[in-house]
Amino acid sequence: MIASRSNSAPAPFTTDDFGERLRRAALSAEAAGLDGILVTPGPDLLYLTGYAPVAITERITMLVVPVDAEPAMIVPRLERPDAEEAAGAPIVRITDWVDGSDPYEACATLLTAAGRYAVSDSAWAMHLLGLQGRLPSSSYVSMTKALPMLRAIKDDDEVARLAAAGAAADQAYEEIIKVRFAGRSETDVAADLADLLRRFGHSQVDFTVVGSGPNGANPHHEIGPRIIEDGDMVVLDFGGLKHGYGSDTTRTVHVGEPTVEEREVHDIVRRAQQAGFEAVRPGVECQEIDRASRAVIAEAGFGDYFIHRVGHGIGLTTHEPPYMVEGETQILHPGMCFSIEPGIYLPGRFGVRIEDIVTVVPEGGRRLNQSSHEMRIVH
Ligand code: ZN
Ligand code: ZN
Ligand code: ZN
Repeated sequence: MIASRSNSAPAPFTTDDFGERLRRAALSAEAAGLDGILVTPGPDLLYLTGYAPVAITERITMLVVPVDAEPAMIVPRLERPDAEEAAGAPIVRITDWVDGSDPYEACATLLTAAGRYAVSDSAWAMHLLGLQGRLPSSSYVSMTKALPMLRAIKDDDEVARLAAAGAAADQAYEEIIKVRFAGRSETDVAADLADLLRRFGHSQVDFTVVGSGPNGANPHHEIGPRIIEDGDMVVLDFGGLKHGYGSDTTRTVHVGEPTVEEREVHDIVRRAQQAGFEAVRPGVECQEIDRASRAVIAEAGFGDYFIHRVGHGIGLTTHEPPYMVEGETQILHPGMCFSIEPGIYLPGRFGVRIEDIVTVVPEGGRRLNQSSHEMRIVH
């Protein structure tokens, strides 16, 4: 029997892994001049403790990572048994609150009265307002603003998960180009793509963009009832989560024989993607990746038709810092993982985008997608 290596679940993260992440979070908070960070359910909580409540409800769950004390997490009493099973739980002091009591009073005991905290971007406003009501001298900043790099540098186990997700997306791509395009709707092809992502181990499909003909010229187009025709360029942008980590890949295919112009535009985007990739190395600013890709498109005369940043980070979510965008001076470090996805969009006609996930290694960049960038012909 041949074991499917790519689909076997990786070893779970250990209590030590979470301990290391919590220590780094506290140090980053201190460096940012904060008293600590407040984390509510979502990717940051999963990252720091391994805990993901089954349902996120109006009952507050909050992890407090102070810069000068041990991390503590307060949970609704009925969810305490679940929280205590998380891999990070042994190194977090867990307390609870019961229905009928004031949860914010209980939360406030974990904070400094006049403290300054970074708080999860996705924290519910009612929870933050509740805390502010209890601690009027405290102040709060957005986690993404204060600690944008909290989850940005992936360890080897995280990169391996991202590589497995990328490989699964590549497999889905190699299969989708065999299906019938002409005469079928974008919605139908997208459904095939979602099935393929699941077949190759994705537990969650976040997006399956099928932008055919003029729809491909709108980077925000997802899918619609349009019937794909012979002669169409088709932008395929798809991704989701496998073993908890994201994939996000774009390839642009053509139905039948392309024109000379279509080949040229596709080739410019392919070279722009390559130029962005070749600019990746430790110590380079994020904006340099955007500039390297954009320069190729601008020199070819299509600068006005490349209308978005060139990339975004990826990890426990499919879009997160760092962003490869003009003005972002964050320095690349080994372990950062992000997309490079230049495109050219010709309104009313067609679009081309090519996207790979790339990780920073000491000697430059390494692609986590391996499928060909050539314009594949579909039927
Ligand atoms: Zn065409
Ligand atoms: Zn994408
Ligand atoms: Zn992307």
